[in-house]
Formats: sequence, C-alpha cells, structure tokens
Amino acid sequence: MIDLHSDTIYSLWCRDDGSTIEKNDLSIRKETLIKAGVRGQCLALFTPMHEHVPERKRSLSLWQIVSELHDRFVKETESAGIPLLTDPEELKDGRLHAILTTEEGAAIEGDISRLSILRSWGVRIFGLTWNYENELAYPNSTDPDIMARGLKKKGFEAIEECSRLGILIDVSHLSDGGFDDVASHMKGPFLATHSNARAITDVPRNLTDMQLKTLADHGGVTGLNLCPAFLHDEKATVPESAESRICDMVRHVIHIYRTAGSEVLAIGTDFDGIEGKLEIRTHQDMPKLFEALSAAGLPSSAIDRMAYGNAERVLSFFRR
Ligand SMILES: [Zn+2]
Repeated sequence: MIDLHSDTIYSLWCRDDGSTIEKNDLSIRKETLIKAGVRGQCLALFTPMHEHVPERKRSLSLWQIVSELHDRFVKETESAGIPLLTDPEELKDGRLHAILTTEEGAAIEGDISRLSILRSWGVRIFGLTWNYENELAYPNSTDPDIMARGLKKKGFEAIEECSRLGILIDVSHLSDGGFDDVASHMKGPFLATHSNARAITDVPRNLTDMQLKTLADHGGVTGLNLCPAFLHDEKATVPESAESRICDMVRHVIHIYRTAGSEVLAIGTDFDGIEGKLEIRTHQDMPKLFEALSAAGLPSSAIDRMAYGNAERVLSFFRR
C-alpha cells in the first residue's frame, strides 16, 4: 500500500509530549504501517498558519516552522529506522519508506529558490495551498469568487520550478481556478493527494467529475480521504458525531472509478489530521475497505492499482 497524505509529523510537533512515530496514540505508527504492508507513507510537512500554530511557536516565521517540521521528520524517521524514499525504485524492495511531502505553499514565503532546498530535503510532492490564500494561489472555498481565482504569477513560477526539480504538484486544497491553471500548464501528471468526489459529497475540498477526468487525462491520481466531512452525503461541516464510514468510501471510490477509470484511484488517508469516529482507524483496517469495494463490484485489478500501483506510477514520473 502507498498512502499519499498524513499529518502525523505536524501532530507530533504540536504535541511535543514525548510521542514518537513508534510510540503514540495516533493512527500512524511504524509498527501498524509495517503490519499493514504499507511500503510508502507520505508524511507531510503541513505548515500551519494563524490559530493552527501552537501558542509557543507563534514567534516563528513560516520558513522557520517548515524547517522545524523537517527537523522533526528527520529525527522521527532516523530514530525509527524508516528510510526516506529518494528513488521510487526503492519501493520495490517491499520495505516501509517515508515519502516527504509539503502542504501549504506559504512555507516558502514567496521565495521560489527555496523549492530547491525542499528538494534537497527529499520533498517529492508540493501542495500549493492549504485553506488560506498565499503568495502562490487561492484555496478551495465556499466563496465562488475565491474558488474561481487562478494561480498567481508566483504560483506559475512554482509549478515550473517544481517540474524542473522533479517535485509533483498537489492540488488538494487548491481553488478550482488554480486547478484549471495547473492542468493547462502541466504536461506531465499532477495529483490530489487527499480529495474525494464532489458529485457524492458537495464540499469544495472534493473534486468535480471534470477535474477527476482531467487528472486521469494527465496520468495523475486522487487519494481517497477518510475525513468524515468529505465522505458524507450532505453539505455540512463536521458534526460532533461525524463518522467516517466504509459504505461512504465505497460510494466515492465507485463513482470515481466510473467517472475517470481505475488509473486515477489512490489512497490519501489524511490520518492524524482528521477527527471523528473512524471505521478505518489505522492502515490495518484497510482490508475491510478493499473487501467492501470488491463486494461492490470493483475489479481486483482496480483495487490493487488503488492500493499501490497508481501512486507508484505517479511517484515514478520524476525518477532521477
Ligand atoms: Zn489537507
């Protein structure tokens, strides 16, 4: 299995209570990943803004924050003996690898030259936005005016530089206008690491049918997000009792499959960044989803591609 998105590093950094990637009460732990057969776990350097920055960290600049998060990533993966994926070929050895990604383009503070520093750290996927406007682009939004806005000048520069460096562009959290700009300027694949189908759950964080088809046309993928708010069949912010249910995941996956084909399917759990009652609480529960997908008629070849093959294909695009 390859999981394209998690917020575990940010959660550990926020807590600072002695939890590690080996010992914590989160969804992602080294032991559960290995037991579940995860070969590639994306660990995002989610760079928080505003109230999402812990009180004691508020004097730090965003670049200092992402640097601290990277230090934490190195400390966790090195002490746990989880190798950083430097070449997608390494996935073939069957061991667990950490895949370094970023979420929130404001981390580079508008300085495009910092993308090569991220690449030197091993970053393979760069998320242009989180839920705020930044120097590069606009976020997904319920405000149609914001949602329609495209990339800024620096956003175009960022996607060109990422292509040059061999970093994939992540459009989860991006505005629809930004998605269109990425699609029309990128020749190779790009991806949505953790987004579902808007036709099933009508929230701006999910992708329209047209966007799903466009991703497929580019050879990209979208990772199934287990967040209750993006799975429910209602327009809603997360209610207190929100549940992340396998039956809802199945509806999304089957819709994405019928709309855009089997090659666009992937997994992006968003573990340790989501709350609610999770029917899939760790990767060890994932076989329950695969069984339900099989029962719903998804061919086993498509399930295999969703679990592993498609994400591997996209990660291999910039093999170097
Ligand atoms: Zn996210």
